[in-house]
Amino acid sequence: MTDRTAHPDPVTDRLDHTLAAIWHGADLVRLETVPVPPLGPGDVLVQVRLATVCGSDRHTVSGRRVQPCPSVLGHETVGEIVAFGAGGARAVDGQELRLGQRIIWSVTLPCGTCDRCTAGITAKCHTVRKAGHESWDSSWGLSGGYARHVLLPAGMPIAAVDDALPDALAAPAACATATVMAVTERATPMAGKRVVVVGAGMLGLTAVAAAATAGARSVTAVDPDAERRALAERFGATDVRPTMPTTEPFDVLLEFSGSSAALQEGLRTLDVQGVAVLAGAVLPDAPVALAPEAVVRRHLSVVGVHNYEPRHLTAALDFLARTRDRFPWQDLVADPVPLEQIGDLLLAPPGTKPRYSIAPR
Ligand SMILES: [Zn+2]
Ligand SMILES: [Zn+2]
Repeated sequence: MTDRTAHPDPVTDRLDHTLAAIWHGADLVRLETVPVPPLGPGDVLVQVRLATVCGSDRHTVSGRRVQPCPSVLGHETVGEIVAFGAGGARAVDGQELRLGQRIIWSVTLPCGTCDRCTAGITAKCHTVRKAGHESWDSSWGLSGGYARHVLLPAGMPIAAVDDALPDALAAPAACATATVMAVTERATPMAGKRVVVVGAGMLGLTAVAAAATAGARSVTAVDPDAERRALAERFGATDVRPTMPTTEPFDVLLEFSGSSAALQEGLRTLDVQGVAVLAGAVLPDAPVALAPEAVVRRHLSVVGVHNYEPRHLTAALDFLARTRDRFPWQDLVADPVPLEQIGDLLLAPPGTKPRYSIAPR
């Protein structure tokens, strides 16, 4: 629970201190006044406007997922630039960033020099650091969005947010939407294909919209929750099912549920040249049986995607800008509550909307 007794005096005007919700393990999240370290060359200091609560943070606090502790969680954040280190900083599209600009940033902060980074697989950098995942005692304590300010170290992939895109659409772009851009890239082209999306949470609904926008012949959404199936229809699903269909063939399977049972069924339905892209299985689950003969005779591809590349940040914002009038994106994010309530949100049962949100100001 949130410790409401430890309310410090906010002294953020001087920018030498800020307010951060520090997760101390189990269900203890405490609001604390913390120092803002001096900015090094290329660093960017951001004032948080809105942070949405990704399911992975909820898994962390409930103990299903392990990450450094104590730490400031939160990695779906939109904020305004309030200070630069020497030399300023550029967005991933090359534009020079300016004070007051509204931005989002990547989940992963790559080193930029290792063999994976130079090969373009920065999400799997050997020394990757992650927004909202770093220990408070590390060199990047102020990494998470559940705070008034976030420090973005030099090299962090940053994307500027167009004025027309509301905060509630921009914040989830930093994890959910950008990850879906990376997932659908592996299934491209989806035009004319029969696509099945397993799991209709934030990522699944976004993937349904992406498949519909790409011109898929059909988009089937699978989720046991009736409300989510109803949402999927509003995001472009042509068919919704409570469980994986077992008879009709599909060309593309996008897996966000993390359920081995659903995947097992789904792999059987893939037609010739079928592609399964797995993104939901980020926690251990039972192995899945895969018949090598089926892979050979049906030319199947099974690929995994974890996190994304800097280009997917801008792709996410572009996708949301193109589809903001076509799909009810605003309905996926609950109205923001103050930062003081983040501990309660992390422990609350899932809401009717896939994302809770906080607005520190
Ligand atoms: Zn996330
Ligand atoms: Zn690297």
